Amino acid sequence: MEKATFFDPGASVSVLTTQPLDRLLDYKAPEGGCMLGAFVEVPLGPRKVIGVVWGPGVGDYDRSKLRSVIRVLDAAPMRDEVRTFLIRASEYTLTPMSAMLRLAARAPGLGDPPSMRKVYRLGLGQPDRMTDARSRVLAVLEEFGGLSFTQKELAEMAGVTTSVIKGMVKLGAVAEEDTPRDLPFPPLDADRPGKALTEAQAEAAQTLRAALQGGDYGTTLLKGVTGSGKTEVYLEAVAQAIRQGRQALVLLPEIALTAEFLTRVEDRFGTRPAEWHSGVTMTERRRIWRMAGLGQLQLVVGARSALFLPFQNLGLIIVDEEHDTSYKQEDGVLYNARDMAVLRASICSSQVVLASATPSLESWTNARAGKYRRLELTDRFGPSTLPEMRAIDMRNEQLEAGRWISPSLRTAVQARLNRGEQALLFLNRRGYAPVTLCRACGEQIGCQHCDARMVEHRFLKRLMCHQCGETTPIPTQCPSCKAEGKLAPVGPGVERMGEEVTATFPDARVSVLSSDLFGSARALKAEIETIAAGGADIIIGTQLVAKGHNFPLLTLVGVIDADLGLQGSDLRAAERTFQLMRQVAGRAGRADKPGIALLQTYQPEHPVIQAILSGDEEEFWKAEAAGREAAGVPPFGRMAGIVLSGTDLQTVFDLGNALAQNDTPLRQAGAEVLGPAPAPIARVRGRHRVRLLVKAPKGVAIQSAVARWIAPFKLKGDLRLAVDIDPQSFL
Ligand code: ADP
Ligand code: ZN
Repeated sequence: MEKATFFDPGASVSVLTTQPLDRLLDYKAPEGGCMLGAFVEVPLGPRKVIGVVWGPGVGDYDRSKLRSVIRVLDAAPMRDEVRTFLIRASEYTLTPMSAMLRLAARAPGLGDPPSMRKVYRLGLGQPDRMTDARSRVLAVLEEFGGLSFTQKELAEMAGVTTSVIKGMVKLGAVAEEDTPRDLPFPPLDADRPGKALTEAQAEAAQTLRAALQGGDYGTTLLKGVTGSGKTEVYLEAVAQAIRQGRQALVLLPEIALTAEFLTRVEDRFGTRPAEWHSGVTMTERRRIWRMAGLGQLQLVVGARSALFLPFQNLGLIIVDEEHDTSYKQEDGVLYNARDMAVLRASICSSQVVLASATPSLESWTNARAGKYRRLELTDRFGPSTLPEMRAIDMRNEQLEAGRWISPSLRTAVQARLNRGEQALLFLNRRGYAPVTLCRACGEQIGCQHCDARMVEHRFLKRLMCHQCGETTPIPTQCPSCKAEGKLAPVGPGVERMGEEVTATFPDARVSVLSSDLFGSARALKAEIETIAAGGADIIIGTQLVAKGHNFPLLTLVGVIDADLGLQGSDLRAAERTFQLMRQVAGRAGRADKPGIALLQTYQPEHPVIQAILSGDEEEFWKAEAAGREAAGVPPFGRMAGIVLSGTDLQTVFDLGNALAQNDTPLRQAGAEVLGPAPAPIARVRGRHRVRLLVKAPKGVAIQSAVARWIAPFKLKGDLRLAVDIDPQSFL
């Protein structure tokens, strides 16, 4: 049990607010007093703001002059372990505490009193006159004796209008009651029998159960090819946590949060879990946030921000597809949900399971070093086998200009069509063509506000900047030399592939899966489900098809440009290409039909392509780890990115130079700074961007060194400085 600390009325307390202030504010505890951790409303100037009671007053104020906390909100006080989590996460990511609190107080209507709603059940009175409609209402209420319904639900179930129900309430035949709007979640049944596990699955599940029973913190890397049953295994760990009366959280990349997944959970536990992501209604979010804090919710399936829910007794966190780059939040608070999951678990004595077919090098290394337990499922479940992987050497293929499907790949696709199977063509490029070029003057159309090319989106009939989202109509005239009708698309995007495929296979049903072609995440998910059910013959997709969905009829994956990811200067380019190719290939041959993956490449001898083809993952990781260790880069060294931005390039560079020249705190700590240099995308939304990179050996406390280094610099005008600890992308 946590030690409850209570502040008597009038005692001075310090409050952390969600306002961007760099300190705690002192107030007088309200009438009735308040608990440590209580969510409160306090006056700040003329406004009322939300905060959390953080401890006894810190300032040296005259108590009689302190303003009083306005009221304590109707929410469970923040637990000690959540406070510790926020503090440690703030220290790790160098994020102000007020911003951390905003993540943890994301409950819509947190300040509202508990709202009530009217529900209806069987009354004691008798209707004066029995009509058909009235008897149907009574029949529904009698059949579901213990339950109560909203007026709308009851009307729908009985097939009557709400006025019938209103009439019956007047007569007392139906009783109307008030109940709190935020209802607890129905309990999950952990003891419903799951699937009969294979020997390897059962062994892995047993290890996880035992770890949970131990009651301590631990992290397990659950590695297994797509389809090997990782989900089946971790659902057993969820069952164990629930049996122990603890809560569980399953984090998924948002796009993998499909109805299919939720149905699977429902099949296993008899009821749906709470769902937390950007598409969830405000009312439902409020309910989840509250019930998590009251312990009346056992399982949340959600996107990365679910990590900041106020769980009362969190016993297990699953991070599925743990290598996925979308776990890194790239806006606002720059945190990696995978790392924060481990941090939170270590504070509240929980278990973490990191599941992946192609783990990040960080997790692989932690497992090798013995920091993480490692479990491996090597076989796919059932008759399906891993697809065979082969390269198509593009140097030997005859291609017309403006065409990207080689004759070899075309033949393979045709064979699938003849057999009624599906083929997936993968190209990680949205839009129609990455470059629009003027054939008269050679100009490439760029964005007005960014250092990026405009990408043609024929479906939207616009040119679009993938940096800032700016769009313009597709011009007919070159903006530079004014020549008419000379603009030409160069290079392939998925939309252009769609054209080529339709021309090459006129009878095939083609579906292009790219996030920007669908109005909403829901529409996209619906299309994915249609495809899974056989609604398309050829699927053309960007990287979103790589994420956790089963296409049982899919037997061929064609990678249009396997070299694409290898060109960047990103330190993770090889790792990313390896993961993506393996993931995409893993989509093929899931049911009883063996699959094949064909990689179009101009450099089949490249070590990464070789590693992908050989399927020898351990060899790839070892080589990649050795290379990074020699270079002293993550995970064998530490890095922090500093991005400076502002509207005036010279001012931004001046600040960069000043930082680089005054690096004593870094050098004292054993770190070095590289730069300033223009960021790879040197201008975004009209703001110039300059980058510095701090590098340090593994043992260095890079956060405190960076904090001491930047502290003396005051940002004037519109200058901004963002610190990115463990940067993932170098844009
Ligand atoms: P992964 O998470 O590793 O991709 P899944 O857990 O999704 O693998 O399993 C792949 C498919 O095989 C799913 O449809 C799953 O229901 C099925 N499956 C896995 N293990 C079993 C089992 N022991 N019994 C029955 N079906 C299983
Ligand atoms: Zn732009």
